[in-house]
Amino acid sequence: MWRRCKQSKLLAVLLLKVSLIPAVSLAVPTAVFSQAAAPAGTTVIVGASVVNVEDGSVIPNAVMLIEGDRIKAVGPASAVSVPADAQKIRMDGKWLVPGLLNMHTHFGLKLPGPAGAALENETDMQLVLRMADNARQSLYAGVTTVRLVGEEHGSDFALKAAIDGGTAVGPRIQSAGEIIATTGGHGFLEADGTAELAKAVRQQIKNGATWIKVAISGGISDSHGSIAASTMTHEEMQTVIEVAHRNGVKVTAHNGSPVAADEALALGIDCFEHAYHLTEKQLRTMQAKGTWLVPTAVVTDEGAMEFFRKIGSPPWYLERVKSTREDHLKMLRAAVKLGVNIALGTDQFPFEPNAGTTATVREAELYVSAGMTPLQALQAGTLKPAALLDMSKDVGSLKPGHYADIIAVDANPAQNIAALRTINFVMKGGQVVRHDQPLP
Ligand SMILES: [Zn+2]
Repeated sequence: MWRRCKQSKLLAVLLLKVSLIPAVSLAVPTAVFSQAAAPAGTTVIVGASVVNVEDGSVIPNAVMLIEGDRIKAVGPASAVSVPADAQKIRMDGKWLVPGLLNMHTHFGLKLPGPAGAALENETDMQLVLRMADNARQSLYAGVTTVRLVGEEHGSDFALKAAIDGGTAVGPRIQSAGEIIATTGGHGFLEADGTAELAKAVRQQIKNGATWIKVAISGGISDSHGSIAASTMTHEEMQTVIEVAHRNGVKVTAHNGSPVAADEALALGIDCFEHAYHLTEKQLRTMQAKGTWLVPTAVVTDEGAMEFFRKIGSPPWYLERVKSTREDHLKMLRAAVKLGVNIALGTDQFPFEPNAGTTATVREAELYVSAGMTPLQALQAGTLKPAALLDMSKDVGSLKPGHYADIIAVDANPAQNIAALRTINFVMKGGQVVRHDQPLP
């Protein structure tokens, strides 16, 4: 199927799985359009090259058949039979890859400075409308699934319900609800001691959280304390992780502290955000345990200065960004080299302008600068986060059965990650939400 697949592998795939194309079509060498009636909502994308993010192989001049919200078949034009009345989208010269996944997003993000201060009296109604706008812009930027890792007052669950119900436009959402922290910590929902923390975790899960986000160290945007400080007691951290796991919910920690990392790893934490000051010791343990890392490399990169200037970040904040940059980069390079499980996340709006592109695309480029191949960086924004979210059967690659969450670009990003800068078409669940066409 995929151009670089060996014949034996192809046959194995066809025998073991529901095939990428119906097996009968192999016997139809040149049939392109059949006379069978198209089921309601059948769309076909023709003329593009399709990138298999699992191995980087390519189907040139592919046919991508979409029925309803899912991919029905994908293969060479000579091998996929297409109903004559399917809606046809010509994408000659384009490259199709899965919609991107961004694992560290806050649609309600507010940071220190005038832009954040202007939102000080924002009501919950205003907040959720602002979040809906950020969700829409994220989807247009090619991000079809996000993990929200800290929103306020249930705004995230209201937005998710609206998007799922079709009354708001945005990516698929998994959310952690509010960030749980001990008093003075890097989070909205403060709780101290094991009883309060257990209740805070249970409350988020009751509200709809499919992740728990806990702050186990200081953060860049805190005006006090060290980022590397480990703020929770062992018992407190143990309670958060244990209660979440008893409910079948994974835990991710905002963490820049090596000490907190050692403790959390021993307690079975599932994922770390940022990991600014983590050393090779913790990264080796993460690699051995399969613990996830969401690096958010853009937040300390030079390219983010454009964003910080725009929101009027105060000098103390910029100083904290700069002081963190060197360790953050060193950590990322080591994590890539050691083969830690990395899933892309930005901690900025997925569409935020950054170094001439969006924060999401820039994040993938920074992974390549830190040692990943372009294909690995593409996987960090597609396959890997799908696995992190336990959504590998639905999103993250362009296989039959998956949601038709598709973006188009002008070149192959598995060869040059900067090709993601040219996103000009976005489809989510079989619906075209963006299709840039040259003016007549
Ligand atoms: Zn964050």
